[in-house]
Amino acid sequence: MVLEVKTTLVNEWRGFKGRPFLIAGPCSAETEEQVMETAKELADLKEISVFRAGIWKPRTRPNTFEGVGTEGLRWLRNVKQETGLMVGTEVANEKHVYEALKYGIDMLWIGARTSVNPFTVQEISDALNGVDVMVLVKNPINPELELWIGALERIARAGIRRIGAVHRGFSTYEKTIYRNQPNWQLPIELRRRIPDLPIICDPSHISGSREYLHEISQKAMDLNFDGLMIESHINPDKALSDAAQQLTPNDLRELLSRLILRSPVPSDPKLLDILGELRQQIDVFDDHLLDILEKRMKVAETIGEYKKENNITILQTTRWDEIIRKVIAKGQAKGLSRETIDIIFKAIHQESINHQMRIMNNGTMSRSEDK
Ligand code: PEP
Ligand code: MN
Repeated sequence: MVLEVKTTLVNEWRGFKGRPFLIAGPCSAETEEQVMETAKELADLKEISVFRAGIWKPRTRPNTFEGVGTEGLRWLRNVKQETGLMVGTEVANEKHVYEALKYGIDMLWIGARTSVNPFTVQEISDALNGVDVMVLVKNPINPELELWIGALERIARAGIRRIGAVHRGFSTYEKTIYRNQPNWQLPIELRRRIPDLPIICDPSHISGSREYLHEISQKAMDLNFDGLMIESHINPDKALSDAAQQLTPNDLRELLSRLILRSPVPSDPKLLDILGELRQQIDVFDDHLLDILEKRMKVAETIGEYKKENNITILQTTRWDEIIRKVIAKGQAKGLSRETIDIIFKAIHQESINHQMRIMNNGTMSRSEDK
């Protein structure tokens, strides 16, 4: 692993008094007044470390507001002088990096549409070589952990020490309640792979609307994320980009006051014993689940042999439709969500198909193939 992150940095990333590291500000800088008024109100919250505002906006369609450009960097510099907040903006090419550094921007973030592209991330990394600035790398728009880690590695290689990841959710064709699917397993896996890397959640771009900001932020805190990046605008309904998901600084204050912050380790040793016992029970159930899956696959293999002998196709959609309908109904009666059952049973079904395929194509199933 090329990525090196100093352990001490994690403490630095804890914001005021062990609270999460908070980044807030409008999606886009629009006017000098909008930037300064929003920044002053955010500074009054006394909890925000970095004021964010997009200067160059990567928009899906042309002829929408694409940011004010370099002019906005001066506004950010004024915010820093007037409020003492650190300031941050998105960079998407080397020119952006040079311009932002010229204006003393403290934090640069690489957006989701940029972190997908190794050429661009490398170009940004080259422009950052030897510079001491905080850099955050948003997840790529597609749910690919290696690409996210690759982008972080490229930035770390430039010698950037204050580096963090931002989880902003992943694009999907399917219509869901959120604008971007959180796929929490990706940042969780990122934490497992690089434990010292600070991870910030961006509930604004996951949610796409004000409605879910609190529940997503709370979930991030419960998963022990290091901070939050939340879009806040003095007059959200009039915002030139991402109007539906921005909050007034006052509403942000209210959201933050409702966040419950939990400790990753219990302070009372008795609690550790209780947790240990409960975790043993979980381990036993996990073993049961594996035994049951093994048995289910054996039956699938026998079915595969039968289909092979009788020349029947593996996939029988009516049967599969019937299974998924039944398990969703039964699972929901047991308090499991439709979404989770759907994911689990699709994965089990795929595994059954793989086992049957191997039987169909190779004769019998051998253990050594099963790696
Ligand atoms: C943003 O932060 O305003 C932004 C454009 O984010 P993302 O790259 O997550 O879409
Ligand atoms: Mn935005």
